[in-house]
Amino acid sequence: MPKKTTRTSIQKVLEKIRPVWIERVGGELARGMEVRAGFEEQLARFFDLLEQSVTTGDPAWLDSILLDWAKSSTETDLEEGLYHVSYLINRMIALTIQVARETLTKQQALDLLAAVIPVYTYGLGVVARYEMETRVEHISSEMAKVQKEMERIDRSKSAFISVAAHELKTPLTLIEGYASMMEDLLRENKGMSLESLVAGIGTGIERLRTIVDDMIDVSMIDNSLLKLNFQPIQVSQMIEALSVEFAAILRKRRLRLDIQDHDGSRQWIHVDPARIMQALRNVINNAVKYTPDGGTITITGRKLPGFVEVIISDTGIGISPENQALIFEKFAQLGRVELHSSGKSKFKGGGPGLGLPIARGILEAHGGSIWVESEGYDEVRCPGSTFHILIPARSDAPDPDMAKLFDTLERKK
Ligand code: ADP
Repeated sequence: MPKKTTRTSIQKVLEKIRPVWIERVGGELARGMEVRAGFEEQLARFFDLLEQSVTTGDPAWLDSILLDWAKSSTETDLEEGLYHVSYLINRMIALTIQVARETLTKQQALDLLAAVIPVYTYGLGVVARYEMETRVEHISSEMAKVQKEMERIDRSKSAFISVAAHELKTPLTLIEGYASMMEDLLRENKGMSLESLVAGIGTGIERLRTIVDDMIDVSMIDNSLLKLNFQPIQVSQMIEALSVEFAAILRKRRLRLDIQDHDGSRQWIHVDPARIMQALRNVINNAVKYTPDGGTITITGRKLPGFVEVIISDTGIGISPENQALIFEKFAQLGRVELHSSGKSKFKGGGPGLGLPIARGILEAHGGSIWVESEGYDEVRCPGSTFHILIPARSDAPDPDMAKLFDTLERKK
């Protein structure tokens, strides 16, 4: 049977080129690709299967190793659009031709190529199909992710607009009301005092300003545009200033503010005092808002390596575990429009939900952090909340010129 003879002689030819082939393919391809463990062993296995395919006339013998290789492509390969295994086979074809030319007679080389090229072509088909399918799958899953993210952004965008409109409407209505009352009075020319009406307009304008300022701060934090003006200050000085600011509200709400001196509170540190006070103010303001009348707000702290920690706890309604991370995200209160604009310091008077995200942004810009601990949310039992604020205790102000210099050097690299 002539066919049989051809197969045996092909087998011999294959055996002849085997060591050179493994060395050549291994040498060239192990360099270009990330070297996978035991690449030469893999090539030897491939060569055995190639031989098997040629002698049995069934190229499917190669399926298992080709799929193994194709599957070992990583997520990064997919993202970078690399087609490792198709490339590998294409190079193998070229190298086989090269090796055949160098080591075999012309006839042997022709016989060999006639036998192996169909097997390689089959292999290329298997791999290309697999790589295409995986790529399509990868792209579809990426598209699904993008779609989901776009939907989320879209939802938060429209929720943002609804909350912003709601928040801005309250002070506007206030201003409108007082202004029209003023107009009436002026028209009737009653000569009545306009003082309380002007004060009403003032309150409305102040609220509008706070809301707009908060929105600007959030967008600056989001775009890493927050500029810090480092000055030496003590934590106790900032807390004392804030206690003066809050005195009237605390009296009105019959809340006790207990400020405790602690290790580190009188240490001189370099921070942006206005920004750190803004962060602390937001936390204290929440303690006021979410603590029923008659409660206590305690401010204490401790010194930690490289940080001064400020601890602000209240005897308020507490925060459920699932909300403890969420409240630092902007517009976490979005779902509950009914809570909005019920008052700046009133019990449970919700706001635009920007206070804590701003506090976190400010602390993170300093290299610090903020988190909360609370047993849970219970308006009757009032388990309270404890906010921990880590402020880096820099002994010097960072030199922005130095940072710029290193940044330029880094970019030049
Ligand atoms: P808001 O403008 O809604 O007060 P914040 O970002 O300041 O926005 O706070 C987000 C949410 O976190 C609040 O609406 C409230 O539900 C919760 N929260 C913050 N501080 C406290 C606290 N001390 N006690 C209970 N809940 C709090």
